[in-house]
Amino acid sequence: MNRMYLILLGAPGSGKGTQSKLIVEKYPFIQISTGDILREEITKKSSLGIEAKKFMDGGKLVPDELIIMILKKKLLNTEKHIILDGFPRNLSQANALDEMMNEIGGSINSVINISVEDSILEERLSGRLVCKGCGTSFHKLFLIPIKDGICDKCGGDLYQRSDDLPESIKQRLIVYHQSTKPLIDFYDAKGLLSNVDGDKEVNDIFKSITSIIDGRI
Ligand code: AMP
Repeated sequence: MNRMYLILLGAPGSGKGTQSKLIVEKYPFIQISTGDILREEITKKSSLGIEAKKFMDGGKLVPDELIIMILKKKLLNTEKHIILDGFPRNLSQANALDEMMNEIGGSINSVINISVEDSILEERLSGRLVCKGCGTSFHKLFLIPIKDGICDKCGGDLYQRSDDLPESIKQRLIVYHQSTKPLIDFYDAKGLLSNVDGDKEVNDIFKSITSIIDGRI
């Protein structure tokens, strides 16, 4: 079987990361999250991390050259089916991805767009708590961890992302509408797009996603 490439599209807070983790538990995929890779680089205090942090905290996109370089490395170093979570974020990255696919003889199998209204995204992001250990997301009001500050799943410490603050959230949503949302039409025109309503329970969203994946795998 050829390697599959699945793109999860959606605004910040739409649930791409949460759904990616559920997909990885059920199917032989790995998740490539450009945001997670950048946060790891920040923790390591690498020059890439230091450079990227300025853009991330301001809610801006990290320059395309850096992101494309990171992604190329990852794509070449894995054999499994791949979920792209957080890439591409604009048309120039989408075109670069097409070029990479040509180079490695692959093709994108499916693009799933998770749609959620801005007001709900703001609510979700401003109360989000993320586990340092396993990356699971909780919420200060809607998905309260059993023990304060501790992940229910792995016991890791929970933290608030430095870009989940009001000013960064506003900017990230502006960037989403300007740069990322046009990718919905881009992939629809290629016949690859499926839409999923992201304003539902996590497991209901996952059911919609599994029926899309099952039809393509
Ligand atoms: P995420 O974890 O996907 O919400 O990404 C967090 C931040 O990392 C974004 O707000 C951007 O600053 C940066 N980032 C992640 N993926 C990309 C990408 N494909 N292109 C540019 N910047 C990105």
